[in-house]
Amino acid sequence: MRIGLIFTAVKIICIGRNYAEHARELNNDVPGEPVVFMKPESALIRDGKPFFLPDHLGDVHHELEIVLRIGRNGKHIAERFAATYIDRIGLGIDFTARTLQSDLKGRGLPWELAKGFDGSAILGDWQTPEAVQWPGILSLRLEVNGETRQEGDTGQLLFSFEQIISFVSRYFTLKMGDLIFTGTPAGVGPVHRGDRLQGFLNDRPMLQCKVC
Ligand code: ZN
Repeated sequence: MRIGLIFTAVKIICIGRNYAEHARELNNDVPGEPVVFMKPESALIRDGKPFFLPDHLGDVHHELEIVLRIGRNGKHIAERFAATYIDRIGLGIDFTARTLQSDLKGRGLPWELAKGFDGSAILGDWQTPEAVQWPGILSLRLEVNGETRQEGDTGQLLFSFEQIISFVSRYFTLKMGDLIFTGTPAGVGPVHRGDRLQGFLNDRPMLQCKVC
């Protein structure tokens, strides 16, 4: 949205290691509080546009995640009110340059280059919380070229949607339109040119992405 010379940017907040099995597959400890990082708005890809695999980043992994869209502004949000801040629920892919991320982690450096590059945040369709029967357990599944690669459900979350919203809003004021990627289940792996990715929320197709 543009008002005169004032721009309002969407924040893309991401939670790492929120499914224990995924934390273990990357040899990470299971965290005691949410692991938070952010992507810039320039990372977003919408409307079924393809993902152009960068040449210079090494292995790029798919991470299918449930994404929350924030519907109103708030800070220091109590867990018991957090659900009322969720306007839409959808799926996204947190593309991760894994080779680069491992290198940055090894050197104790921030992850932004490996997590926030152009095209690293794919969004699918949105549903209202009621339409996907949330609160309630949501399942997510990623198929690559028709074969299931990632599968999980929100019963496996280390931190619930409400806990995430409450935690991050202690540090960042949440604004209408902000996005929260809530973490990925086990099964992450590299993508290749020509791959077709399809994400399902409660077995409903909600995200499609071609890798070019
Ligand atoms: Zn992720």
